[in-house]
Amino acid sequence: MINSRAIDDLDPVVAKKCRAFIAACKKEGIEVLITSTYRDMESQAEIYAQGRTRPGRIVTYAKPGHSFHNWRVAFDFVPIVNGKAQWNDARTFRRCRQIGEALGLEGLKFEMAHLQFTGGLNLADFRRGKTLLAAV
Ligand SMILES: [Zn+2]
Repeated sequence: MINSRAIDDLDPVVAKKCRAFIAACKKEGIEVLITSTYRDMESQAEIYAQGRTRPGRIVTYAKPGHSFHNWRVAFDFVPIVNGKAQWNDARTFRRCRQIGEALGLEGLKFEMAHLQFTGGLNLADFRRGKTLLAAV
């Protein structure tokens, strides 16, 4: 079961954008930590089970294959200040998202910590075996 936070586990196109994102944030004095990159289907199934068939609160609405993390094209991050993750700093998250969007990454309205690059592909495309290399 893989639930990675390694940038190298992302699609190479997205890994490059992720590194550029970290560098661009740093340039503005914002340190970011990457908290999630690639998640395999088994890991997604386990997370999906939480709050449904397993104890805990619901943390995802995505079944296996229905998260861009399963296709190596999304990552999650959190700003760090004085060594502490700033999960509630909406202002800094917004600024980070703007920085990411300037690099061609796509942010989500209701998931502050998430950025993705899908090259115009949707989840059904990825499930059918399409890859970013064909799209860019
Ligand atoms: Zn995410």
